[in-house]
Amino acid sequence: MLGRRIGEPSNFKGTAYIASEFKRLGLRPAGDNGTYFQDLPYGPMGFDVASLNLVAGGAVLATKTDWVPVAPTAMNGIGLKADLSNVPTVFAGRWGDTTAALDPALVRGKVAVFLATPAAAGLTQAGGGGGGAGRGGPVLRCDSVADKFGAAAAAKVEAAARADSVAGRGGRGGRGGAGGTRDNRALRSGAVAILFVALDSAPRTAVNAALNSRMGMQLTSAVGNGVPAAAISSSAAVKLFGKPIDQLSVGATGQPITARWQYDWKMSATPARNVIAILPGTDPSRAAEYVLVGAHNDHVGVNAAAVDHDSLRAVNMVTRKQGSNDPACRPTDAQQHEIDALIAHARSIRPPRRDSIMNGADDDGSGTVVLLEIAERFASEKPARSIIFVSHEGEESGLLGSKWFTDHPTIPLASVVAAHNMDMLGKGRADQVMYGGPGSVQTLGSRRLSREFGDIIDSVNTARSEKMTIDKSWDVSANPMNRFCRSDQVNYVHHNVPVTYFSTGYAEDYHQPTDEPQYIEYDHAARLARFIHDVMWAVSERKDKPAIAGPDPSYPVCR
Ligand SMILES: [Zn+2]
Repeated sequence: MLGRRIGEPSNFKGTAYIASEFKRLGLRPAGDNGTYFQDLPYGPMGFDVASLNLVAGGAVLATKTDWVPVAPTAMNGIGLKADLSNVPTVFAGRWGDTTAALDPALVRGKVAVFLATPAAAGLTQAGGGGGGAGRGGPVLRCDSVADKFGAAAAAKVEAAARADSVAGRGGRGGRGGAGGTRDNRALRSGAVAILFVALDSAPRTAVNAALNSRMGMQLTSAVGNGVPAAAISSSAAVKLFGKPIDQLSVGATGQPITARWQYDWKMSATPARNVIAILPGTDPSRAAEYVLVGAHNDHVGVNAAAVDHDSLRAVNMVTRKQGSNDPACRPTDAQQHEIDALIAHARSIRPPRRDSIMNGADDDGSGTVVLLEIAERFASEKPARSIIFVSHEGEESGLLGSKWFTDHPTIPLASVVAAHNMDMLGKGRADQVMYGGPGSVQTLGSRRLSREFGDIIDSVNTARSEKMTIDKSWDVSANPMNRFCRSDQVNYVHHNVPVTYFSTGYAEDYHQPTDEPQYIEYDHAARLARFIHDVMWAVSERKDKPAIAGPDPSYPVCR
């Protein structure tokens, strides 16, 4: 399935399968236009490279060597397109120096040229690409990496880190790397475009990546309504002003420029989509109310580099118990022996197998198949309230599908009496997570908006013969590893829908190419599926919906 990344054919295929299962089970479509699908406005965007053009003082500048256009973002307020014909330029000083006022008489109707950092022109990232091993800097020895195994340990490490950063007065960099205080002077003084003299010191990878298209949500009208901007080299600046930029004073006029560029978004050919179905409730007085269950259908695609599966897993089993939640580290001698032994054992069975596909069997293949199993079970029952099944798109790209669904619900959100979000239900052995075991489940948020919802979950568990061991240690105000704010439950909380997040926890294959089906604890996942079904059944059958007590201030606030 090639990692089921949002907007890609593999994800599209996966969502088609989910819809076909909903159909097979006889569930009612609850997406848009009578279908199971709710498309997200998501797709490729970038500059139309063929039509890029910048002429400075009669000289045609070469893209990447002499100039690149700056992509508009929600943050930078830069315009989508430039169409300039012989517009005079004026030197406007240093970008970000908002203490120096710009005289509109000098700037109006002209192209303002600023000396700027690469960051101001968005030229800092070393062109994305998945992988994610080293982030620069020395690799720590594993025995000097803080132990974040389990919620309590993670919360303790994070509290210490916060205390350190307060003591160290903010530490490195600070926020707002992309320009700090927003510089609106050019816009306010009536400039029609901006040139940043910033290209020379920009990382080559960032300059090369500037013209690549990327995938994202459709630009909103709030994006791109400023003036267009481009980054140029110092030698291009000399072409404009006839001398080096550091010899200019503010207000110096330069040669005119003629330019054209355009930034466009279009819908993916294989649309990103939520898959939504309903099983109508059988009690006429409660059928207009819904019990919601969700899981996400996307994962993170394919890595740029392939590595040997068994070697990677050996390293992660010994040194990164929570997968990419833990930093890569240099093993101690004892750990290296352990790793070597695991690899030697693997080699005795099979040759190296290089792999770059992020399969996401646990994340969230497990939640997705449990969603379908729960749907199959309900399809043969007659719940009083309606059940709504939501397969969320784009969780990995910023909770996009749950945000889209809760912003554009296909049923009234106020009629959702409780939501159950399932992300990663396929691990949870005692050696994989703190408080793990055959019946373990971590829950977060169950009493956040509705204490009663939490009470229902506990009482269902007490009444069942197949008991689960509910671990609430992650459900604390310290919000260890930002756990509560990291999955789709957040968007329901924002809309005042009581929601509980169910998971068996982070394990060694988290966001690794080794997150494959052979490492899933199927019996455990099935047990959890029966439990979540029973909780949903209890919610659907009880006379009153779980009472909303309002946000409990002791829980983490997300954003
Ligand atoms: Zn996930």
